Amino acid sequence: MLDLTYETPKPKVIAGAKQDWELVIGLEVHAQVATNAKLFSGASTEFGAEPNSNVAFVDAGMPGMLPVINEECVAQAVRTGLGLKADINLYSAFDRKNYFYPDLPQGYQISQLYHPIVGEGEVLVDMGPGVARVVRIERIHLEQDAGKSIHDMDPTMSFVDLNRTGVALMEIVSRPDIRGPEEAAAYVSKLRQIMRYLGTCDGNMQNGNLRADVNVSICQPGAYEKYQETQDFSHLGTRCEIKNMNSLRFIQQAIEVEAKRQIAIVEAGGEVEQETRLYDPDKGETRSMRSKEEAHDYRYFPCPDLLPLEIEQGWVDDIASDLPELPDEKRARFMGDFGLSEYDASVLTADTADAAYFEQVADGRDGKLAANWVINELFGRLKKDDDKAITDSAVSPAQLGGIIDLITSDAISGKIAKELFEIVYTEGGDPAEIVEARGMKQVTDTGAIEAAVDEIIAANPDQVAKAKENPKLAGWFVGQVMKATGGKANPKAVNELVSKKLSS
Ligand code: ADP
Ligand code: MG
Repeated sequence: MLDLTYETPKPKVIAGAKQDWELVIGLEVHAQVATNAKLFSGASTEFGAEPNSNVAFVDAGMPGMLPVINEECVAQAVRTGLGLKADINLYSAFDRKNYFYPDLPQGYQISQLYHPIVGEGEVLVDMGPGVARVVRIERIHLEQDAGKSIHDMDPTMSFVDLNRTGVALMEIVSRPDIRGPEEAAAYVSKLRQIMRYLGTCDGNMQNGNLRADVNVSICQPGAYEKYQETQDFSHLGTRCEIKNMNSLRFIQQAIEVEAKRQIAIVEAGGEVEQETRLYDPDKGETRSMRSKEEAHDYRYFPCPDLLPLEIEQGWVDDIASDLPELPDEKRARFMGDFGLSEYDASVLTADTADAAYFEQVADGRDGKLAANWVINELFGRLKKDDDKAITDSAVSPAQLGGIIDLITSDAISGKIAKELFEIVYTEGGDPAEIVEARGMKQVTDTGAIEAAVDEIIAANPDQVAKAKENPKLAGWFVGQVMKATGGKANPKAVNELVSKKLSS
C-alpha cells in the first residue's frame, strides 16, 4: 500500500473592511441510518410511502407503548464509527431531550447526550491531489428523527406525516477543524462516500437522508493555531449554527454569507451573538431562528424506558472484520497496483460501482489504458446518454476490455477504437467479431501502406517540394494517407514510410 503524505490546505481568508479574517467551521451531520425498520419500532423506513402508513403505536406516542432498540441500527452506527477510525463505546445510553415537536408526538426526542455510542475519530478530507485536511470527529450518537409537518396542503389546516418519526439518525459531530466553504462541502461529501461504501446511509441529500447543521465563526489569523495548541475554545470567535442544510452548494453559500455578516458586526465594534440561524437561498442571507439554547433548556435526563446499551467487544470485532475496503485504501491500492495518478484513482473510487467496473476492465490489462477508457470514453458517453449510471452502461466491462485488447494487440488504431466503442455502445456485440465482420482491422501490411503513400506523393508534387524544405509538413501526408485508408493504417508505419519517402 502506498504511504501518501498530504499538504494541509490554507484556510480561506475573507477580506473585511479593516482586516483579513479566517473561518472556523464545525459540522453536525445528521445521517439517516440505512435499515428497514425504525430505531425503536418495527415500522418500515421506506421513503415515499402513503403518509402515516409506516407508524407503529410507539412512534405515535400512544400511552403504554415502550421503545425496543433495533440491533441493526446499533450495528450500522458501529460500522460507521469503525469506518471513521473512531473509538466504539461498549457502554452508551439514551437520554430524553424534552421539547415540543409537533411531528414527534411523544414530546421528547430519544438521543444520546452523555454517553454516545461512538467517540473520537477522523476523516481525511481531500482537496485535490496531494492536498488534504484531517478533520477530527468528536462523537457519533444515535437518535430519533421527527416526522414532517405539511403547511401548504390546506389554507386553514396543517397536516402531519409521521412516517419519518422515529427513524434512526446518526449525528456525526466534527471538531471545528474545517477552514473554508469548499472544505465543508468536501467534508460532507467524504462522509457520504464513506457511508455509501459502508452501506450505513444512502446519503441522499434531496430526500433529507443527509443534512448538516453548520457552525461558523471568524477569527484573526493565528488565533486558530492557538486553539489547536491548547484546545481552548476561548481563542475562537463566537459561532452561529446554520440549521438543516441539505445541499452542498447551499452549505458553501451559507458559510460565505454568514462569515461576511459576522465580519461586518465585529468590524463595526459589535459582538456576534451565539444563535441558531436559517439560510434563505432565495435572498442569499442567514436569518435568526432562535437564540442559542443550552443542554439544560431541554432538561435532558436518562430515558427511563431504555436500559443502557451495552455491547460486546467480540460483536464489534465481527463487524470490523466484515468491513469493506474504504475509499482511501481503495484509492491508494489503485495508485499502487495500476500505476494511476491520485486524480484518476480518486475519480475511479468515487463510488464502489465505478471502482468495481474499472477493476474488471483493468484485470490483466494495462491499468492506465483501462483508466483512460473508463474515465474519458465511458464516463463521457454515459453522461451524454442522460447521465446514466455505470450499472446501466450499455458496454460491459468484458466488452470494454475486449476493445482495449484489440488496441494493445495492434489490431485496431486508437481512432478506430473510438468508432468501435460507439458501435458496441449503440448496437452491442463482441468487439473482436465486429472488427472482423466490418473490416476495421488496422492495416499493418507495409506494402498496402506504401502504395497509398506513393499515390499521395505522386499526386502532390508541390507539397513534396515544400515538405522537403520543411519536414514539419510531413504531417499533411500522414493525414492524407490516414484519410485514404479510412483511418485503418497503422499510424506508426505511415509516419515512418512518409518520412523515408520524403527524404529520399
Ligand atoms: P451544540 O450541540 O450545542 O450545538 P456542540 O458542542 O455539540 O454544541 O458543538 C456543535 C458544533 O460546533 C461542533 O461541530 C463543534 O465543532 C462546533 N464548534 C464549536 N465551537 C466552534 C467555533 N468557535 N466555531 C465554529 N464551530 C464551532
Ligand atoms: Mg448543535
